[in-house]
Amino acid sequence: MIDFRSDTVTKPTPAMLDFMFKAKVGDDVFGEDPSVNELEAMSADMFGLEAGLFCPSGTMTNQIAIKTHTQPGDELICDKLSHIYQYEGGGIAFNSGCSVRLIEGYRGRITAEQVKVAINPDDVHKPHTSLVSLENTANRGGGSCYNFDDIQQVKEVCLQNNLKLHLDGARLFNALIAKKETAKQYGATFDTISICLSKGLGIPVGSVLLGSKDFIKKARRIRKVFGGGMRQAGFMAAAGIYALQHHINRLATDHIHAQEIAAVLATKDFVGEIFPVETNIIIFEVKGRLSSQQLSAKLKEHNILAIAISPTQVRIVVHLDITAAMVTETIQVIKSL
Ligand SMILES: *Cc1c(COP(=O)(O)O)cnc(C)c1O
Repeated sequence: MIDFRSDTVTKPTPAMLDFMFKAKVGDDVFGEDPSVNELEAMSADMFGLEAGLFCPSGTMTNQIAIKTHTQPGDELICDKLSHIYQYEGGGIAFNSGCSVRLIEGYRGRITAEQVKVAINPDDVHKPHTSLVSLENTANRGGGSCYNFDDIQQVKEVCLQNNLKLHLDGARLFNALIAKKETAKQYGATFDTISICLSKGLGIPVGSVLLGSKDFIKKARRIRKVFGGGMRQAGFMAAAGIYALQHHINRLATDHIHAQEIAAVLATKDFVGEIFPVETNIIIFEVKGRLSSQQLSAKLKEHNILAIAISPTQVRIVVHLDITAAMVTETIQVIKSL
């Protein structure tokens, strides 16, 4: 099977597994797992932030960030397609008791102007706006990337209005590679950043929440409350260390593969609008003689998996386990349809 359903389907490489087997471990809830401590310090350092917190999932890092930044009854601002709103099981309400002001952004990205008008006035009738959350790359925007200037303008609005700024950076490394940006720029701008190691970077399990020392101390307590305190988690953390050292620059290959596949899709009569391919995700419209479900089924007959994310859209995600030969084969199959 050539599996384009998500960049979460990757298996650890032999070199990663070898590194994991050799990991030094301890009880991380006691703060005694050297590999977890190393991963947290290393990732914080990379972003120029003070501290990190290793968690089982990106949903958990996001939800812990929201819980730590807010009080029940507060409101947060995000794009209507954001993962934190669409795909975290209503956790904003469930875990934090907050309401959400959804913004109709452009391909998952919101502007400083939109944030400004979404902030509630200081009025007893209104929920207290306390947090803005951005997503980069924006998954439902087709892996679209912010321009850093636009992020800085959002930050300005946050500073002027005493709001915290969180980044859901599940695929931030794809954005850094595509836009030639640095992790430090992001660390200097956001109060907190969630990075996923189990997406493009290819580790089996894990995400890291980054922020100030004070913030992470509070977040560590929330992680315990949410049931995310792990014991000898160093085996997974070691995979994370390996991935940060070896799997970032290679993301450029995934981006090239995505471009190659998109170029062939563009020649087919059953393909409508293709979102501009900026990173490793292709979201395209299926029209005419095929529905998105039918296309997905036809691809499956050729051992290619891609998800119909709506009645008219299919998503292809390129990742570490997609080889050049698989891309060539996929291109042949698409040409034949
Ligand atoms: C995958 C993803 C997450 C986190 O998902 P988990 O499966 O909980 O690790 C968060 N945000 C975005 C944009 C994602 O794509």
